[in-house]
Amino acid sequence: MYNAKAYTAASETSPLAPATIPRRDPTEHDLQIEVLFCGICHSDLHSVRNEWRSHAPTVYPIVPGHEIVGRVTRVGSAVKKYKSGDLAAVGVMVDSDGTCSNCKAGLEQFCPNMVLTFNSPDKHLGGVTYGGYSDSIVVDERFILRIPSNLDLAGAAPLLCAGITTYSPMRHCGVSKGKKVGVVGLGGLGHMAVKFAHAFGAHVVVFTTSPNKKEDALRLGADEVVVSRNTDEMKKHAGSFDFILDTVSADHDIDAYLNLLGRDGNVTLVGAPPTPLPVSAFSLITGRRSLSGSAIGGLAETQEMLDFCGEHKITSDVEVIPIQKANEAYERLLKSDVKYRFSIDMGSLRTE
Ligand code: NAP
Ligand code: ZN
Repeated sequence: MYNAKAYTAASETSPLAPATIPRRDPTEHDLQIEVLFCGICHSDLHSVRNEWRSHAPTVYPIVPGHEIVGRVTRVGSAVKKYKSGDLAAVGVMVDSDGTCSNCKAGLEQFCPNMVLTFNSPDKHLGGVTYGGYSDSIVVDERFILRIPSNLDLAGAAPLLCAGITTYSPMRHCGVSKGKKVGVVGLGGLGHMAVKFAHAFGAHVVVFTTSPNKKEDALRLGADEVVVSRNTDEMKKHAGSFDFILDTVSADHDIDAYLNLLGRDGNVTLVGAPPTPLPVSAFSLITGRRSLSGSAIGGLAETQEMLDFCGEHKITSDVEVIPIQKANEAYERLLKSDVKYRFSIDMGSLRTE
């Protein structure tokens, strides 16, 4: 065991503050990674503030962070695919049983024994796992992803959650040329969804509550932008969509989006508002529409997404911040004031 530096929150009302945390020495299959960049996902904020208490209560202290890129500093004796000095990435998961039907299908995110990067029981040290707001992390090589060498590292970090969470459901639902696709919420997930849907050749419509994001939405790849608070603008699209990806982090009216679907259209929820969202039966019955959900993506698909990003030169639009600005960044996230992902330069923790 060794001590790592990290930013932790001590309770649901405490700010993030510097602390020392234990990390295991790499076992034979582990890599130790020096964290270079870590994205700030809205899930970090939900967890730090215990907003998902009824579904996944937070254990304190918490070290959030699951959009990690870094450099390998130590390798276990049985590690074959990586060596010291290699770039490595870690997303939302760090372990799974490898034997269940989900793991066998490459859908480790649905494994009943999946271990999240933070706030999951830690079978090595006891307590819970600690995430990427830290100077280093130790992870089994099975859960390490490769970053294409042509991508900017600060902008690549958010691909590990925001990227795969939007890529996977759009692949699953056949987003492609000739499809009309909606993206609700232009935040960290939403702006990645726009980039992917555009790259897949779909006609992309962004729904935003922030009129000042219109220009950006078009630049990111949207064909049309609708300010969702304008009911007349919404009505124009009634019954016309094949697929809508809903990335909103707070309470909102999903019926309004179900009613924009055509026959057999689908709304997939990836946003995870803490409180239940009411749905009218008629919004679904009419036109045989469906509402579903999706969580990140499996390891193989995450690597596929990273390789796709390498080929198409796709990264997240990031505002790079030092870790000392993390609390301020959370407040700005709540005001939808980020273009479009904060990426923490973890060098700022090493010099603290
Ligand atoms: P984010 O950057 O804060 O983006 C959320 C966007 O939702 C905002 O930028 C805003 O877009 C819109 N929004 C916020 N409050 C709203 C409200 N009251 N009504 C309508 N729209 C609102 O967050 P994120 O990191 O993209 O995460 C989004 C959600 O996905 C979070 O709940 C997060 O926990 C969840 N998530 C799920 C998965 C998964 O595997 N399913 C993975 C990662 C994250 P506009 O300004 O354009 O309206
Ligand atoms: Zn996330």
